[in-house]
Amino acid sequence: MDATATYTLSDLETWSRPGVGVSLAVLGHPIRHSLSPAMHNAALATLAATEPTYTDWRYFRFEVHPEDLPRALDLLHAKRFRGLNLTVPHKVLAVSSPRVVAIDPAARPIGAINTLRWHPDGWEGFNTDGYGLAEGLRQDLSKPLLGAHVILLGAGGAARSAAVECLQQGCASLSIANRTSANLDALLALLAPLSTVPLRGFTPDALPPDLPPGALLINATSAGLKATDPLPISLKHLPPPRAVYDMIYNPPETPLLAAARSLGLPAANGLSMLVHQGARALAIWTGGPVPVDVMHTTAKNALTR
Ligand code: NDP
Repeated sequence: MDATATYTLSDLETWSRPGVGVSLAVLGHPIRHSLSPAMHNAALATLAATEPTYTDWRYFRFEVHPEDLPRALDLLHAKRFRGLNLTVPHKVLAVSSPRVVAIDPAARPIGAINTLRWHPDGWEGFNTDGYGLAEGLRQDLSKPLLGAHVILLGAGGAARSAAVECLQQGCASLSIANRTSANLDALLALLAPLSTVPLRGFTPDALPPDLPPGALLINATSAGLKATDPLPISLKHLPPPRAVYDMIYNPPETPLLAAARSLGLPAANGLSMLVHQGARALAIWTGGPVPVDVMHTTAKNALTR
């Protein structure tokens, strides 16, 4: 088995690493460009250098169509994979899977899980994206969510985990902007029962006049993935934020980050979030410390190749 290859469900039907080590994997569609295998295998090699238990731990990548997720989860369980990461489009689908026998209470309000751990009866589900975001903000911008006024852009899956994390970490207020009102309203309805702080939504073309100055601006939209994308919000019309974090890491500098830097604002991309959500997942599987720096360097190098 080659930890740099992309495998499919049919490979899994005949999968065997007889008597060898521990297997981990990421499932997604598409998955070919995932940085997770490089990042996790580098971390496992580092752990193995001082702890022989990890010598035969490997992390693989599987291209799995959404309709094949139930079969894939059954096979991966039968073949005793220790842990899985889930990415688009499986994070939400897995929550309602009968193969997932327990969900971490902190992940339940998010309605999405990105990490599974083997259990004799099935899989246990976790969501490490919010943790990844909080650690990324701390690492790159020295900004904790506790006490922060947050302006969050987006109402998709990533915004949902970010919003729940902001509320769970004790932000001072949460203002969410999204271009499609119906998606925004659905997110606000989900968050309202969790919130004890001011929570509101708006569309980027109709800014409320009383947005807080000095907020932490977090982009959780896909605007910026392509060079031709519009800015998710115009910084000119916002009260100056304290810092800007864009969950996008490829390209490393989105138009939003460039605009923030041109205004002299501290700004960072989502690579640190990716690394920390992965580090947390690895800690869930190993139960021990994780070489986060190695994961960060590996992910950064893989991106620039
Ligand atoms: P979803 O498809 O679930 O949501 C996409 C969001 O982006 C929606 O709010 C959508 O708005 C908005 N959007 C899309 N295109 C535009 C546009 N041109 N202008 C304004 N808004 C737009 O995706 P995810 O939530 O899963 O991911 C969002 C981003 O976060 C992606 O770029 C992804 O790469 C990144 N991400 C990064 C992670 C990390 O570890 N760094 C982890 C997870 C995600 P609407 O409702 O109007 O359609």
